[in-house]
Amino acid sequence: MAGRISQDTITSIRNNADIVSVVGEYTKLTRKSGNDWWGCCPFHSEKTGSFHVDNDKKFYYCFGCHASGDIIKFVMEMEKSTYVEAIETLAKKFAIPIRYEDGPAPEIVKKDNKNEEYIELYERTASMFHYFLMETEQGKFALDYITKRGLTQETLEKFKIGYAPADRKWLKGFLRKKNFSDEFLRDSGLFSKNYPDISFFSDRLMFPIFNRNGKVVAFGGRILHPQGDDDRKYLNSPELAHYKKRETFFAFNFAKQSIRTNKKVIFCEGFMDCIAYHQCGIDYAVATCGTALTDEQINLIHNFVDTVLLSFDSDGAGQNATLKAIMMCRRKDISVKVIQLKGGKDPAEIMLNFGKENLTAQVNSAILDSDYLLNKLGEKYPVDTPEGKTKAALEFFDYIDALQSDIQKDSCLDQLGQAFNLKPEAVKRDFLNRQQARERVSTIRPNNRQETKNAQITLNAELRGVIAAVAYPDQFKILRSKLNENDFKNPDAKRLFRLLENCLERQAFSIPDILSSCDDPALTQVITGVISDGAYRDDNVSAIIEDTIKFIKKNQIEEQRNNLTKKIREYIVVTEDDKIQLNKLLELKVELDKQIQSLSK
Ligand SMILES: [Zn+2]
Repeated sequence: MAGRISQDTITSIRNNADIVSVVGEYTKLTRKSGNDWWGCCPFHSEKTGSFHVDNDKKFYYCFGCHASGDIIKFVMEMEKSTYVEAIETLAKKFAIPIRYEDGPAPEIVKKDNKNEEYIELYERTASMFHYFLMETEQGKFALDYITKRGLTQETLEKFKIGYAPADRKWLKGFLRKKNFSDEFLRDSGLFSKNYPDISFFSDRLMFPIFNRNGKVVAFGGRILHPQGDDDRKYLNSPELAHYKKRETFFAFNFAKQSIRTNKKVIFCEGFMDCIAYHQCGIDYAVATCGTALTDEQINLIHNFVDTVLLSFDSDGAGQNATLKAIMMCRRKDISVKVIQLKGGKDPAEIMLNFGKENLTAQVNSAILDSDYLLNKLGEKYPVDTPEGKTKAALEFFDYIDALQSDIQKDSCLDQLGQAFNLKPEAVKRDFLNRQQARERVSTIRPNNRQETKNAQITLNAELRGVIAAVAYPDQFKILRSKLNENDFKNPDAKRLFRLLENCLERQAFSIPDILSSCDDPALTQVITGVISDGAYRDDNVSAIIEDTIKFIKKNQIEEQRNNLTKKIREYIVVTEDDKIQLNKLLELKVELDKQIQSLSK
């Protein structure tokens, strides 16, 4: 029988592995006195450090979320690993020998460790792809392409860029010879689900995606010869047990040290953008892996940076991604700047055409997000008219809402006034009126006890319905079949709805899952408060959901009707044709009135 890890090994790890440096990989710690270290908690999102590491007693404790434990538990939680894996990781890192009792070292441990086996598979595959690119005739086209785009030999090696051969059966044969079983390969993400001998990537330029420790865990492949049924420009590895897209940044392994030293990070969209920055010495750039930016990704850098620089495409999709990222970062109290590239469509093109210094200069002259947004609003609306100014101001108010400090809010209101030539007092009054109006939104409460102390969160019919869906997951399906995120006017209901969509997508829809992905303690408190107060029961939850849907639909139709009424009032009848048109509008209004009435029942 195989032995188990001896108690003295465990004790030795607890005493000799440096807990401060291990925790310091995830959050910035500062020594307060003696052996007391403090920082922002890596388990929950916060702005002031309530996470304490006692280097004397070798444990950590968070005064905010009460997470606590020793170094082994910390590694287990952070790396989502088992007890044995955590011990092995630490033993390796601090060169502490593992002793076994009651038998020899178990071979099984290694074999059971599927993650490590996957990583070995991906590492080998990446090396082979790299060899094909650098050394073979079939990789020559790909090598020419990437060299023409300006990547150096050194960069190709550092990022292990490769070429997946056009022969879709080659990889399977190669890996079989390396003793990987068919069964293991079938679920590895490297082969087609339906045709397990056919490789997922073929005739593509391959970008390995590394985990934080620099091991290959996935691939992104760029098409070289668009043709046939699958001509997607980029193809990415599917989600796998050892590769979670939402929690991974491309190049984070190369960037993490520099992110900490520089206290800033560049978010970009593509592999090439990110690699170009690194080649120019701007080594704090990371890229999202074929998905929109997620809260989990922001959490990876949240505790280390003061500023996020955004470098997304200048097309419509890129602009939307920029706006979304600004809001996400601001809500977490991170400053944001936007890099506006000139002289090329992406960083690689600028590097190629104008060189490293030019790209660096453009990064250094990134503009503040508020300036960026005001410029965009100035282009979007006719801000020389009162109506245009109002629309622009209203949209900018959403940004001001996301800011976490009153001083910042104040100075952005001033900035708004200056940008569109509005009186500062009028801007502030409008902003305050809007906030008060929100707080007055008809609040339908099950009973008074559920009134929240937090004045910022309005528990109206919208929010009540979404919280009901937290308690009753089946109801969320009904809610989302009738409504989408944009239907919600209550910002917290909107936010929670979006969070539930994310949880559903990740198939993590239990109450603890949802609460742990909600980073706003005030909202969490309202959710747990309302649910534990027994507001939702089997016999009333359907009605609550129905109320929410009606409430929203009714508001939408009322808004339509009000616009229509205004139009009718301002309508000037001159010709016979005008009369007909006006009648049509009146008929439409009657129809809307009817709908509102039926929803009010
Ligand atoms: Zn905490």
